Amino acid sequence: MGWFSSDIRSVDDLFLHTLQDIYYAEHQIAKSLPDMVAKASDAELKKGFSMHLRQTKGQIKRLDRAFKALKRKPEGTKCPAIDGILDEANEIASEVDDKMVLNAALIAAAQAVEHYEMTRYGTLVAWAKLLGHSSVAKLLAMNLKEEKATDKKLNGIALRKINKKALARQKKQATRSHRRGSAQDAMMLAAAGIPAI
Ligand code: FE
Ligand code: FE
Ligand code: FE
Repeated sequence: MGWFSSDIRSVDDLFLHTLQDIYYAEHQIAKSLPDMVAKASDAELKKGFSMHLRQTKGQIKRLDRAFKALKRKPEGTKCPAIDGILDEANEIASEVDDKMVLNAALIAAAQAVEHYEMTRYGTLVAWAKLLGHSSVAKLLAMNLKEEKATDKKLNGIALRKINKKALARQKKQATRSHRRGSAQDAMMLAAAGIPAI
């Protein structure tokens, strides 16, 4: 379905399209989360990702129920936004070699995902209410609440420890490379017959 193509003619169509968009997104997220669990080296963060994987599977079930209530077959429609966010997350993660910095990168990537989901569910709840689908609105609001809580939790972990640990690692590396640099300078001076001060 193309953007603003003639396939979407009404709010009903737009609502269904967006529901299919988040259905696809949730499946992609469920596929990516095990990798995030594996990459996280902080126990609390690992646990947080595992918990959100379980929640995500529950969210997909709620979406199945929402489609059923609307008498529609549950199906997804390609969401280039979530594919882009997840591609970017993988790309960044593959470029970070320090474990602490990687934890910070994983949180940032996960929060980008949560924020995408929050915008989608926020819109979907409003449209479901507008269209009189109150039971569907309730299911979508439950998913929205979980995404918001996850975002808040990730924010807490980042601010409380992960960001500081990542910075501490950076400072340690800087001291180490400074020392290494000084030792190399002394060797070069010695080789040139110049006494080190
Ligand atoms: Fe989700
Ligand atoms: Fe999308
Ligand atoms: Fe989520």
